Amino acid sequence: MAVALVLAAGRGERLGAERPKALVELAGRPMLQWSLDALAQSAGIERIVVALPPGVEPPPGVDGVPGGASRSDSVRLALAAAGAGDPVLVHDAARPLLTPEIVRETLVALERDELADAAIAAAPVTDTIKRVDERQGVLETLERSRLWAVQTPQVFRRAALDRALDVSDELLASATDDAWLVERSGGRVIVVAVGAENLKVTTALDLETAARLLARR
Ligand code: C5P
Repeated sequence: MAVALVLAAGRGERLGAERPKALVELAGRPMLQWSLDALAQSAGIERIVVALPPGVEPPPGVDGVPGGASRSDSVRLALAAAGAGDPVLVHDAARPLLTPEIVRETLVALERDELADAAIAAAPVTDTIKRVDERQGVLETLERSRLWAVQTPQVFRRAALDRALDVSDELLASATDDAWLVERSGGRVIVVAVGAENLKVTTALDLETAARLLARR
């Protein structure tokens, strides 16, 4: 059975709210609760562990651990608290539009591909992406048809995630997603196409958009 790790320990400074981002009120409840409800409604998830800001109690029905110095450090701490469980689903509380369908699709994708170490939710990019140097300007225009904007959930085989997280704190701190830690050691990561609606709340505009989309449900 799978375990789910939900990352909610970030401060969310770019949102400019008074409380940690995951606890900000969104369409009538704390942002974190939307992801927890989607996971609770998903078949195959045995246990949920949430990485929380220090001093914050976990909501009923889930286990909590204080988060770490970086996002992937929070993953490492939550995984240690999770005990057994394979595969491991990692999700950011900052993506409150998670649905049981997305959870199922990522779990099934990993189950079906025997050679894959991880299956990650992603959406094809719609903007043209350029690599830019602050002084020299544009260095390169990337081929859009091969670019994907990566989201969570990311589902990992337990052994692959254990190996990927067994690195220095510096390397963990430089990871913006956990799949990269698997990729860098030669692991096979597959993408699962999901809609752009599974957005990440970073700014006040994202919060407003997420509230509108959730209110429609
Ligand atoms: O900072 P960023 O928006 O990339 O964070 C993504 C997710 O990781 C958020 O849900 C945040 O709460 C979580 N996080 C964490 N521990 C940290 C930093 C971020 O759980 N030390």
